[in-house]
Amino acid sequence: MSTIDTPTATNTLNSYNPSTGELVGSVPITPANQVDAVIAKARAAQPAWAAMSAQERADMLKPAGEALVARAEELGRILSLEQGKPLAEGIGEVTGCGSRMVEEVDEVAQAVQPDVLEADGAKSLLNYDPFGVCAAITPWNFPILMPHWTIIPALVAGNTVVLKPSEQTPLIADAYVKVLNEYLPEGVLQIIYGEDDQGKALVAGDVDMIAFTGSKTAGQHIMAAAAPGLKRLILELGSKDPCIVLEGADLDQAAGFAARNSFRNCGQVCVSTERIYVQESIKDAFMDKLLEHTKEFTIGDCLDENANIGPMVMREQKEHVVAQVKDAVSKGAEVLHGGNEHEGNFVDPTVLDGVTHDMDIMTVETFGPIACVATVKDADEAVALANDTEYGLGAVVFGEDQLARSVGRRLTAGMIGVNRSMGGVGGAPWVGARHSGMGYHSGPLGHRQFCQLRVVTTNEPTDEN
Ligand code: NAD
Repeated sequence: MSTIDTPTATNTLNSYNPSTGELVGSVPITPANQVDAVIAKARAAQPAWAAMSAQERADMLKPAGEALVARAEELGRILSLEQGKPLAEGIGEVTGCGSRMVEEVDEVAQAVQPDVLEADGAKSLLNYDPFGVCAAITPWNFPILMPHWTIIPALVAGNTVVLKPSEQTPLIADAYVKVLNEYLPEGVLQIIYGEDDQGKALVAGDVDMIAFTGSKTAGQHIMAAAAPGLKRLILELGSKDPCIVLEGADLDQAAGFAARNSFRNCGQVCVSTERIYVQESIKDAFMDKLLEHTKEFTIGDCLDENANIGPMVMREQKEHVVAQVKDAVSKGAEVLHGGNEHEGNFVDPTVLDGVTHDMDIMTVETFGPIACVATVKDADEAVALANDTEYGLGAVVFGEDQLARSVGRRLTAGMIGVNRSMGGVGGAPWVGARHSGMGYHSGPLGHRQFCQLRVVTTNEPTDEN
């Protein structure tokens, strides 16, 4: 299956099924020296795009939502075949983007309306103008949702966009952009294909802002490369999210969350639970529940209806996870579930007990299906260990309500869940603190990050004049 013409051997980016190693399809690599021409086209298209009202731009995108929903089976299949997640989740990711399109574009159009401040016979208009050309650089773990999250607000705000999707998942990005482009003017949304070199050429090119989602290391490179031009940045980076379980917690709820959030998408989620700190007085009861919930997870090919976890997206990612487990075991961690060797890119949902912060698995992002449990004596120790990280995307705490709320307020992540998951309610932005990000997106506050704020102040006649 391919979404493009038959590739030649030398200029194509191949996409492989991580379960089987089979070729899923290919796209033509964009030569790095042609990236400037793509950006120039985006720049040429931007003034006319910006001249439309935000609501006109939003309305133009609305039918793309319906088209995504109508084609969700086809696109979800491409997504799952090249990324590995179960087909139902692949379809769900496409449907989710499509079905919320109308609501989302209207929310962005509303968020970028000017604010008005009036005082002392003068009026200030706070205008949310587009920056110009936005580079969107995205990862493979949610290969349609991640581009969608940045492209939609960037476009509705009046920017034109050049997308550089992950080299692991170019086919679904290609299909997504083609759907949107059925409704957009020429040059408003373009895509380039390739690896880091294409991303670097995009960052170095004549773009005004870069919305990047990916690893901390790449984020650091991008920030440095953006510095000479003072290009505006939104960086959504990696994490090492903690889950604290204290006395008074609903243990079944906490263990169910910990298992689901450690294993979902094979642990390849930026807000996966990567560290679990459990108070010693409830530890045994919690572990029984955690092991029970772990049995709900089965690995397999994305088309295997009995499986709810796919493979790791690539061999290097599997080797990284296996090496972390071995390092932890060599330093005294105990494997309570999983941990078996598998062919290909598969890793068992694994439960490790007795982990400590001298193990890589408790300090370096794992991005794999490993639930790592450490015992703490009280809330203070849990907070100290949870905050003992350079990262800060999500964090959760389960416990007696008042105590859990006060513990939640002491955590240094950007999004904190108290007796629930870390995701905010509708309208809340997606925020990475510390080394998990800079700037944020989603919700009215996030949408405005795709805009240059300009304050225009005029003298206004008062009633007396
Ligand atoms: P990655 O950083 O390796 O790659 C992401 C994208 O950046 C790819 O398109 C890649 O080609 C490109 N790239 C890499 N180096 C670059 C450079 N120097 N200049 C320009 N472009 C460059 O990340 P990945 O392996 O695709 O994704 C996994 C990472 O993404 C994890 O760390 C995960 O936590 C993070 N992530 C974060 C969020 C969030 O919301 N904070 C969401 C999803 C994933």
